Amino acid sequence: MSKATPKIGFVSLGCPKATSDSELILTRMQAEGYEIMPSYEEADLVVVNTCGFIDSAVAESLDAIGEALQENGKVIVTGCLGAKGDIVMRTHPKVLAVTGPHETEAVMNAVHQNLPKLHDPYTDLVPPQGVRLTPRHFAYLKISEGCNHRCTFCIIPTLRGDLVSRPIHEVMQEAEKLVESGVKELLVISQDTSAYGVDVKYRTGFWQGKPLKTRMTELAGALGDLGVWTRLHYVYPYPSVDEIIPLMAEGKVLPYLDIPFQHANERILKLMKRPASSENVLKRIQQWRSICPDITLRSTFIVGFPGETEEEFEELLDFIEVAQLDRVGAFKYSPVEGAAANALPDHVDPDVQEDRLARLMYLQEEISAEKLAKKVGQTMTVLVDDIDEEGAVARSAADAPEIDGLVYIDGADLEVGEFVTVKITDSDEHDLWGEVV
Ligand code: SF4
Repeated sequence: MSKATPKIGFVSLGCPKATSDSELILTRMQAEGYEIMPSYEEADLVVVNTCGFIDSAVAESLDAIGEALQENGKVIVTGCLGAKGDIVMRTHPKVLAVTGPHETEAVMNAVHQNLPKLHDPYTDLVPPQGVRLTPRHFAYLKISEGCNHRCTFCIIPTLRGDLVSRPIHEVMQEAEKLVESGVKELLVISQDTSAYGVDVKYRTGFWQGKPLKTRMTELAGALGDLGVWTRLHYVYPYPSVDEIIPLMAEGKVLPYLDIPFQHANERILKLMKRPASSENVLKRIQQWRSICPDITLRSTFIVGFPGETEEEFEELLDFIEVAQLDRVGAFKYSPVEGAAANALPDHVDPDVQEDRLARLMYLQEEISAEKLAKKVGQTMTVLVDDIDEEGAVARSAADAPEIDGLVYIDGADLEVGEFVTVKITDSDEHDLWGEVV
């Protein structure tokens, strides 16, 4: 590269959705001839993609911006924190520009103003699938932006607006390119995957000359035809979710459902503005398991929501006990600035929240450990993520990257991105150990 090549440092914080935004921005930068540098010192300018979801993420983002300013001096901020009023400029007035999430164009404009691009774009150097931050063998596929729900603990609709679905042919094209470039697992993400297409009234698009509806079930089926693992994240518990369980039973998409229930008590669910009736949820879980016995269910819950009584929390524990979910993430209610739930009365004491979180996680750990112990002796296909001194680190259909467990395989000669059949030999409350069959 010539001396004049403009160099950019990039810091990507936040959730998989923010990672996907980062990938779009990085792809544009590379296409325009910017070189991405691994350190602050080597860069002419730094872009920080921030997260503003909970208070600890805000603090982390502000720290990252401060560090970039100190080490480099020229900083552009994008992402969820950028959409939260003037907090960035108030804390760090030297920042050159601030944009909100999913604003690739605005970020690029700010970059152009502060670090002009070369005349000769390096378009040809950009691989067809763009630039990805995840390892080569799995990739996040973002199908929509924003959300039509108004859960009272959440400010994402304020930050990102109402649901906007990507055209189905565009999603399929991107998925196909990813598979062509060697991706073995597609992770479908959005704020609300089951709402895909609601905003365009499930418009019929076209893919490979055939009509295809902009709808989760149809999308899942088409992705299943690409012959790689397809994993569905952030599936809001609409009735239509029942339609994709047969696709899981057929092996078209992974038998894995990441479905945030958030609570089990009807009053709390109403206060959260989530669909109520845990009885109904338990019945549905039973039906899903009867159609697809191998299904892995992951969910998230909030404990210590404003007004949650001990009895209501115990109802949640009973639900966890009966539902026997495979994976559970739990969080203490945190009053995110701007969330409607902050105005509710009777906020739960932090010590009580801490205690409830510990009780829930303790119960779930027992359930997870028992469920994983039942897998010892089973044979299953896993995807190798990493190789270290001791062997391979892989994941099964039940494990999404970064949030679930792992399958450790001792000493085998394997490659990253390889599917391999293993026999499970041991387990604990999170992970499995196996040997190649
Ligand atoms: S469905 Fe998810 S993104 Fe939408 S408002 Fe509720 S918590 Fe927020």
